Amino acid sequence: MSSHLPAALLESLEGIPGYNRATFEQVHEAAEKVTSLRLNPNKLRSANGIDKVLQSLSATGVSKVPWTSQGYYLPQRPSFTLDPYFHAGAYYVQEASSMFLEYAVKQTTDPGAGLKVLDLCAAPGGKSTLLQSLLPDNSLLVSNEVIKSRAALLADNLTKWGAANVVVSNNDPKDFAALQGYFDLVVVDAPCSGSGLFRRDPELISEWSLDHVALCSQRQQRILADILPALKASGVLIYSTCSFSAAEDEAILDWLADHFELENIPLPIPEEWNIIITETSKRNLSGYRFYPDRLKGEGLFLACLRKKGGEKEFREPKQKNKTGTLTAKQLDLLSPWVNKPAGYEFFLHQDEVLGLAPAVAAALPALQQQLYIRKAGVKLGQLGAKELIPDHQLAMSTLAAEQVPVVELSKQAALQYLKKEDPGISLPVKGWGLVAYEGMQLGWAKFLPNRINNYYPKELRILKDIQGL
Ligand code: SAM
Repeated sequence: MSSHLPAALLESLEGIPGYNRATFEQVHEAAEKVTSLRLNPNKLRSANGIDKVLQSLSATGVSKVPWTSQGYYLPQRPSFTLDPYFHAGAYYVQEASSMFLEYAVKQTTDPGAGLKVLDLCAAPGGKSTLLQSLLPDNSLLVSNEVIKSRAALLADNLTKWGAANVVVSNNDPKDFAALQGYFDLVVVDAPCSGSGLFRRDPELISEWSLDHVALCSQRQQRILADILPALKASGVLIYSTCSFSAAEDEAILDWLADHFELENIPLPIPEEWNIIITETSKRNLSGYRFYPDRLKGEGLFLACLRKKGGEKEFREPKQKNKTGTLTAKQLDLLSPWVNKPAGYEFFLHQDEVLGLAPAVAAALPALQQQLYIRKAGVKLGQLGAKELIPDHQLAMSTLAAEQVPVVELSKQAALQYLKKEDPGISLPVKGWGLVAYEGMQLGWAKFLPNRINNYYPKELRILKDIQGL
């Protein structure tokens, strides 16, 4: 069978472990669409809640992604845009192979210890939302994206995920140079030539060339060389691409081991997962290959390495005088709105109040000196002399106080709210409150006797037609 895949790609893959030209071409010809998503454990705490979300997406045929605890395959792709649960951050739609990062992190780190984690190439946020779900509150996740517009999308997705222990930055890898020996875990999900996504996005095929592979390989080396000083001694580097090309995968591992004090961490892989273990030609370092003709997912390469020595551990700078602390009056204005879990800090930046998990509060002074921070913890709202105007980030988090009124909407009314229309409800409550769908918060509204003022962020509103649902 001939396929629409570039001949130069097919030839370049000959001899790579796990590559079988016939089945590889067949699976690309068949172009089956695999749909998978990962649930948000911050927001879905009960088995009943999980069942309700999965049932609403597909009454039958939902199955688990084998290498992750929160990932599910759906038998077909529903309209996620028209699902209020999607906008509530109940789940993230993520390609199944990528979820293997969970297994790699669990095998190589002890998250209970409280880790400082960097997701260097993070937009739109698939790996970051996964990492956030794995990390306890005493850990810090810095989720970075170099391209400004993509960093905005990343911040929106992490707002929806609702966690207070994440910092989103918009920096080039070399900007991390001053954070020597800072991170326990660095994830580099590198920009690549993208051949692993050809089945899902065939339009990417025309952009592929051997020259582009070579260019990506050089860029991957540059990114890794720039970021490695920020990894602690004994810290873990997880490197991944969605390219099948050895120049971006195994060859990068050999290059890393040639230039840095890194050792390979082999992972035990259950045979029934059909993941291919590869070894690099020069230094016998192992990596993991995902082929769409062998398992239910797209192409992925991933490898884990540990830093043998090198950098001294980072020392937090001493804070001369603590800025951003709230006065007793300001705390009074906040208290009707916000839960303050033990250890959390409220921080005032200009007139904005942030809710910071302890690890973020401790790290922010050092990070602020080096990085352009787009988002830190949860923005609670804007503080005036007399009141707090609550922020969308607070609505999407779990920090809103129990006494804040919550109004439940039907699916149709929830979609109207998400379109930033008036859902046409009359209510016994007056003033600010949250609107929710099936117990999951969607955003803020101001309730008036016959209508609501809809405070859903304009830039997030659904543009799609919802008539006739
Ligand atoms: N990890 C993301 C996820 O799971 O949703 C996907 C990341 S994507 C494979 C690679 C990212 O690297 C893109 O967002 C891209 O903008 C970014 N990137 C591009 N050039 C870069 C560079 N020179 N340094 C760092 N990141 C770069």
